[in-house]
Amino acid sequence: MSGKSKNHLVYSPSYQSDLSVLGSSVSFAQDRGSRVLDQLAKEVGGNTPLSYHKPRLVTLKQVKLAHCPCYVDSLKKPATWASTFGLTDVLPDNDNTRAILTKLLNEYRLKCGGTLLAARLALQHKLAANLGAGYHHAHRSSGDGFCMLNDIAIAIKTLQAEKKVERVMVVDTDFHHGNGTASIFKGDSSVFTLDVYARDAWPFKKEPCSLAVPITARDAGAYLDKLKAALDKALAKFKPDLVIYVQGADTWEHSVLNRGEGFTLPLSVVQAKDELLIDTFVARDIPLALVFAGGYGDRAWEGHYLGVKHLLYRADVLTER
Ligand SMILES: [Zn+2]
Repeated sequence: MSGKSKNHLVYSPSYQSDLSVLGSSVSFAQDRGSRVLDQLAKEVGGNTPLSYHKPRLVTLKQVKLAHCPCYVDSLKKPATWASTFGLTDVLPDNDNTRAILTKLLNEYRLKCGGTLLAARLALQHKLAANLGAGYHHAHRSSGDGFCMLNDIAIAIKTLQAEKKVERVMVVDTDFHHGNGTASIFKGDSSVFTLDVYARDAWPFKKEPCSLAVPITARDAGAYLDKLKAALDKALAKFKPDLVIYVQGADTWEHSVLNRGEGFTLPLSVVQAKDELLIDTFVARDIPLALVFAGGYGDRAWEGHYLGVKHLLYRADVLTER
């Protein structure tokens, strides 16, 4: 079993970026990928680690398919990082800071490479997951909300440039609105963005997407019904060659960043959400690549785990749910 997972999983130990070097105190759970792999080994692998593909850094040429060259150049500057991370302490503009930023940028490029590789594996083997990334807040000319590069857009634009795909659907169920992805693909009829997000949460300026499903605290109980209706509506309008599923664990009640900004979901609904989504595209024989996106705190990995496990089950890597 462990070898069969390689066609469907992408990860690297270098995904565990240390954002504290920037002075950021956000509880972004960087260990989610390794903890998902550990649990899979324990629960279904007979304590044998599951095999996975390691990605390569996306090239700057690939990055510039989704981001403007002047923004990419500005990533060498501490001020660009300070504003994206909302840092109150000014980063000193010296060799030490530049070395830290180069390392962090390479880690972002690696995770973007992971999404691109997961998308390639999905095209080949129908289902794949990048156990990280999902930087849906990065715009074409600016970073936002801890997202310096938009891996989703880079992967889509790269595969379109290579003529591997024409039409791509992004289904984003992260708690937060995917403003960067929406703005990058605004007016692009080849990419359909379906976004299910907390209406009252940051980012407060929402970008128009192909199909927006804003959720309030009051309608959290109807979350699955709203998602199903939205998937049916999206697929009636648009037939994709590939789906990028921006999973997000931060809808789960034990993985929230800011309490009181909207709704939370119990794990049973998070699990049903992942299963509904994966099953919808498997039933239509449409390749799907999952990426993590948000997840906060010590238990964040649990909000990703059941979805990844279901993906492996539907990919025939696991024989039991
Ligand atoms: Zn989020």
